[in-house]
Amino acid sequence: MATSIMRQPRARRSRKAAGATDPIQQLLEHRAGIIARQEFMPIGRVMQIYTHAGIIDFRNRGPAIGKLNDGDEQTLDLVEAWPGAPSRFDTTQENCPYCLTKCDECKRGVRKCNHGPASCGGAGKRKTGEKPCRCVRTRKRPNPSCKTCYGAGSLVVMGKCEICKGRGKVKCPLCKGTAKMSTGKLNGSQERTAPNCPHCQGYGRKLMEIEQPIAPHVKEHGGMFVLGPIRGMLVMPLVGDKRMPQWWSASVDTKGRSLTLILRHTAPGAQAAMLGGTIIVHNSTGQA
Ligand SMILES: [Zn+2]
Ligand SMILES: [Zn+2]
Ligand SMILES: [Zn+2]
Ligand SMILES: [Zn+2]
Repeated sequence: MATSIMRQPRARRSRKAAGATDPIQQLLEHRAGIIARQEFMPIGRVMQIYTHAGIIDFRNRGPAIGKLNDGDEQTLDLVEAWPGAPSRFDTTQENCPYCLTKCDECKRGVRKCNHGPASCGGAGKRKTGEKPCRCVRTRKRPNPSCKTCYGAGSLVVMGKCEICKGRGKVKCPLCKGTAKMSTGKLNGSQERTAPNCPHCQGYGRKLMEIEQPIAPHVKEHGGMFVLGPIRGMLVMPLVGDKRMPQWWSASVDTKGRSLTLILRHTAPGAQAAMLGGTIIVHNSTGQA
């Protein structure tokens, strides 16, 4: 459901930025002046930007977006400098070394073979098949008074457990035999209410840093960088009671221009301005 429609104004000449001659330069300076004078109302924080090249994920470290007091116009723009695209983190299979504690699933890295439906439960042997009882071979049907099969007609064939190779014990799958497990809590705490380990963010696994390249999302144009066209943004509202991310879809404006973000450069701290496009704010995060 659309709740409001807001238009981005065109880049126009501004008396306040008389020094620059390029309209984009003027726009950047004009917007920077508004932000420096605090002539805006913050309304949300950008969590994700969707372009045709994919997603730029800021998580909770994205730039604030606000309504500028820009004459009669309701200009929407970033009211903070471009933060750059932060690295993303993915979990590895390795235990986090910062929140280790004694593994509670095993003794010195070894545990009974009872992990999973194919395990032997510690016996070292498990059923591998069935064979007909001798009573069936002679009578062609089971003998109800057979002392070997008790009338079942077949006998279970036992074999070595494939998982533990007949030992009945396995290397602990939780700690991988190290006898230490990562709890994901600060300093390896096992308290449910303890704060998350800051190194693994609570995952209990070593994290792998994945850089988010900005290059696929931008085009250099006249010494500036144009990020877009932006298809939409995930925005966390900064006003109101509901703190649920909103999906802001962007379409072309009446002049046929898509929503873009003009950046002076792509490194963190760059001056930025939004340009073009029509934004529709949706209450749910469902993407149109
Ligand atoms: Zn039998
Ligand atoms: Zn086993
Ligand atoms: Zn263990
Ligand atoms: Zn950790």
